[in-house]
Amino acid sequence: MTESPSRVAIVTGAGRGIGAAVARRLAADGFAVGLLDLDEASCKAGAEAIGADGGRAVGVGLDVSDTESVEAAVNTVAKQLGAPTVLVNNAGITRDNLLFKMSDTDWDSVLGVHLRGSFLMSRAVQKHMTEQGWGRIVNLSSVSALGNRGQANYSTAKAGLQGFTKTLAIELGKFGVTVNAIAPGFIVTDMTAQTAERVGMPFDEFQKAAAQEIPVRRVGQPEDIANVASFLVSDQASFVSGQVIYVAGGPKA
Ligand code: NAP
Repeated sequence: MTESPSRVAIVTGAGRGIGAAVARRLAADGFAVGLLDLDEASCKAGAEAIGADGGRAVGVGLDVSDTESVEAAVNTVAKQLGAPTVLVNNAGITRDNLLFKMSDTDWDSVLGVHLRGSFLMSRAVQKHMTEQGWGRIVNLSSVSALGNRGQANYSTAKAGLQGFTKTLAIELGKFGVTVNAIAPGFIVTDMTAQTAERVGMPFDEFQKAAAQEIPVRRVGQPEDIANVASFLVSDQASFVSGQVIYVAGGPKA
């Protein structure tokens, strides 16, 4: 089993929610972490908090759907922390609407952040991984990949990420790089809070109702996803690649 030569990780969308929890967990696991987010202030604050806990981290503002912004952010992390060999493609947005009301912009922006964003980030980081002969990519899919009313754009992007994951696993395996996806069910973050608002339900009631439909009878927390990400990026997971792991309290939420 080859050990990771450079313990530097990048997490996108790390300003809050699942990305922030994954960044904290990877820092606790001993990685230096680049926290990347559209909101520069929140990822810089997250990096400072990791630093105060004794870890090494840097916060960098970027738009994952913009090529130049991605290249610049990855270069900044490589310069400040070292060659990134772990990438968690987590940045995401929702623009929910039924098909007949979904605008071109709703479609393009969701596919732009999830699919184009994961493509641009993976392409920018893979050269560091292949040079080191070791790497880990984790993509955030969703149970919505199986279909979800009002989410034609999001569901398509999350299903697309599963194909992207399997293809990169095939292409990059010989360089010691594994590529997997986590497909979360209901996780308590601003994203699910926004969904509650959209359907006109108080967030706590929305969570209680969701928990009733989940076999383990609770909703998920960002740390539930961070636990699985921590394993997938570890040396112990070197024979796990091209997989989609549903983390949803049941076969699906
Ligand atoms: P969240 O709380 O809304 O956080 C998403 C983060 O991504 C935000 O910090 C956001 O920045 C950032 N972001 C958005 N667009 C970006 C861009 N173009 N470039 C860089 N950063 C960008 O969402 P979450 O619930 O933690 O979700 C994280 C991931 O898990 C997403 O991919 C989501 O689809 C997936 N997921 C979530 C759930 C769930 O139940 N929460 C379930 C399944 C899958 P701003 O703060 O500037 O907006």
